[in-house]
Amino acid sequence: MDLDLQARIPVNRYRPSAPLEVELVSTTRLTPAGSPNDVRHLVLRWPKEEFSFLEGQSVGIVPPGHNARGRPHPVRLFSIASARAGEDGDGRTLALLVKRFFWTVPDTGEVIPGLCSNHLCDARPGDVLRMTGPVGREMVPDDWTAPMILVATGTGIAPFRGFLQARDRLARRDRAPVLLVYGAQTAGDLCYAGWLDGLAASDPTLWVAYARSREETTADGRRLYVQDRLALCADVAWPLLRDPRCGIYLCGLRGMEDGVDAALAATAMAHGGDWPALRQALHAEHRYRIEVY
Ligand code: NAP
Repeated sequence: MDLDLQARIPVNRYRPSAPLEVELVSTTRLTPAGSPNDVRHLVLRWPKEEFSFLEGQSVGIVPPGHNARGRPHPVRLFSIASARAGEDGDGRTLALLVKRFFWTVPDTGEVIPGLCSNHLCDARPGDVLRMTGPVGREMVPDDWTAPMILVATGTGIAPFRGFLQARDRLARRDRAPVLLVYGAQTAGDLCYAGWLDGLAASDPTLWVAYARSREETTADGRRLYVQDRLALCADVAWPLLRDPRCGIYLCGLRGMEDGVDAALAATAMAHGGDWPALRQALHAEHRYRIEVY
């Protein structure tokens, strides 16, 4: 990463002990009512205080209350889903993409709502939330003129919405080619798909490809995942991948990492490329960025 840029990335301006109070401006469920996945787009606004961030960074949300030992709950991190100018272009808002989470106690089978995701998904416009950060350098692009291959599963699309918002604000001649491969269970679970389709339809250097795992299958009958779709996009991916400045960004589920690596290897080999050398350069030059959970 460019060391100058690294030094200029804003980090940790607000900490859990003194978080920034932000107002929830709007909350919109993006997934259909019938989907078991309740995923919401939240817009937060801060009034006067200075808070700046870059595409690919995250913020923390401090859940209300205390744990059994009387200590404040730890912050939960969420990727910022906006470009640095925010949702209104005035640099005082940002969007988060939040999935309502439940976990099951292994011994009893009891279903417990996740503290922070439910706090956020239940919040109403006008509510005040406590925010920390920004944090994270790993997913902050340092060369917007370089081609990018973006691979997202589920709410891992969040930072890439910020990337593509930023790209959309660039003059056409300054936009590098981008391939986004995005996976969700069904078409209805693909957040921002209408917006993404609109961007791609008006920009010949942006390709968006989806993997709908519960609606599409591979040739051998498995659920179709992002790595399978990426392999099917080899002819689009190869000219980007072979560019010595190409950046690859993965965000979402940990399980996709090996499959994406294999799909990139197959893409390179199908086009006569030397994948081990390419892969080595991608990692050595910090052009292969991964944020998975
Ligand atoms: P999800 O709905 O559970 O899954 C998204 C898609 O990925 C589904 O189609 C799923 O298929 C598929 N999938 C499952 N296993 C896979 C594998 N091994 N390889 C490739 N695809 C696979 O996703 P989610 O609940 O939104 O979770 C996304 C992850 O991103 C979470 O771990 C979250 O912490 C992380 N994340 C979130 C943010 C944020 O800001 N909210 C930011 C960064 C990362 P099937 O279910 O049909 O098997």
